[in-house]
Amino acid sequence: MTAYVRTTSLSRLPLWKKIEGQRKLVDFSLEITARCNLNCRHCYVNRPAGDSEARQVELSREEIGRFADEAVKLGALWCTITGGEPLLRPDFPEIYLDLKRKGLLVSLYTNATLIRNEHAQLFRRYPPRDIEVTLYGASPAVYEAVTRVPGSFDASLRGVERLKLAGIPFRVKAMIMRTNVAEAEAIGRLGRAWTRDYFRFDPFLHLRYDRDPARNAEIRAQRLPAEDIAALEMADIERRRAMLGKFERVLNNEFEPQASGRLFCCGIGEIGVELAYNGHLRACPSLCHPDFVYDWRRGSLADAWNRFFPAVLCQVSDRKEFRERCCVCRLVNLCLWCPAQAALETGEPDSPIDFFCEIAHARLAALRRARGEMERLPPTE
Ligand code: SF4
Ligand code: SF4
Repeated sequence: MTAYVRTTSLSRLPLWKKIEGQRKLVDFSLEITARCNLNCRHCYVNRPAGDSEARQVELSREEIGRFADEAVKLGALWCTITGGEPLLRPDFPEIYLDLKRKGLLVSLYTNATLIRNEHAQLFRRYPPRDIEVTLYGASPAVYEAVTRVPGSFDASLRGVERLKLAGIPFRVKAMIMRTNVAEAEAIGRLGRAWTRDYFRFDPFLHLRYDRDPARNAEIRAQRLPAEDIAALEMADIERRRAMLGKFERVLNNEFEPQASGRLFCCGIGEIGVELAYNGHLRACPSLCHPDFVYDWRRGSLADAWNRFFPAVLCQVSDRKEFRERCCVCRLVNLCLWCPAQAALETGEPDSPIDFFCEIAHARLAALRRARGEMERLPPTE
C-alpha cells in the first residue's frame, strides 16, 4: 500500500539548506498570557491567574489571528504557544484552531494541570507539532513546594494521563532548583517513563522579565551553585556526551572569539520572533530591555522584521568591561551570557555576569575531568 503521509524531523527538512545564510522568518512564539494558575518559585514571567491588569492588556483572539496572518505572509511555518499557562485562557481552543487553520505547525508549552478531556480530544483531532509539559517534582510534597499550589501535582498527573489516554505524544522538561534537586533523578525517571522520545532538564533559572526585585531574590535563592549545575550536567550521560562534542574546540583551546564588539552573535532574530502577552514584540523571548522591544500594536510585524530588528541586531558596544571581558572571552560558548540575559541580570545588555562566569568555569573544569576519565578508559574491542 502506498503511504501518503511521510513524517520527518523538522531538523531534517531541506528547508534549512534552502534558507542557509539568509534571514527568513520561520517560526514565532505567542505568549498568549502571562497569568498562571501556579506560582512557581523560579518563574520568570507569571502573574496571578486573576490579575485583571495583566488580563486587560492581553492579546485578544482577533489580534493573535492578525499577527499570525502577518507572520504567515512573511513565510512563517511554525508557532509555539506559551505563557504563563496558555490553557488558563477560556478561548484557548479557538486560538489553537485558528492557528491550525492557517496551516501552521503548532507547539504548546504547558504545566498540564488544566488539560481537560476536551483539550485531549482537540489535540487528537487536530494534532499539535508537539506538547511540552513542565514537571517540577516527582512527589506531591516537592512538586508543590515549587508551585506553591496544593493539589497541583495530582492535577498535572491527571492532565498527563488525559494526554496519554488520547494517544497524544508529549515531551517533558524539568526545571531543577534547590527545592527539587534532591528529586532530580526521580523526576528524570518519571519524565522518561512518560515520554518514549524526550525528556530534558534545565538547571539555569532566568531572572524575571519584569525585573521584580522581590521575585528576583526568590529566583536567586533557588539557583544551584555553579559546581552543582556542572555536576548535574555531567551526571546525565546523554548531556555529557553532547556537551563534549559541542564544546570540543573550547576544550582544545581552538575557539577564537569574534571580538568585534557586536552585542548579538547568537543568531537571534534570524528565523524567529516572540510576541508577548501585551503586544510587545521581541527578537527572542528573553530580550525584554526596552531599547530592543517593538510595540506591535502600534506598527506591524513586517516593519519590525524589516526595519526595527535589523537595526537592533547590528549594535556594537564600546563599554570597556564588555570589550575586555565577554567580547574576547574564550568561554563565551560555555557561558550563558547574551545581551538579553545581561540586561535581565544587570540592567545593561553589555555587562558581564559574575554568576555566569562561575558557571562557565565550572563547566570547563567538569568537562575536562569527564574527557580525562574517558581517555583513561580501556579501548573497547
Ligand atoms: S507553571 Fe510555568 S508559567 Fe506557571 S508559575 Fe510555574 S513556571 Fe511560571
Ligand atoms: S560572563 Fe564571564 S564567562 Fe561569560 S562571556 Fe562574559 S567573561 Fe566570559
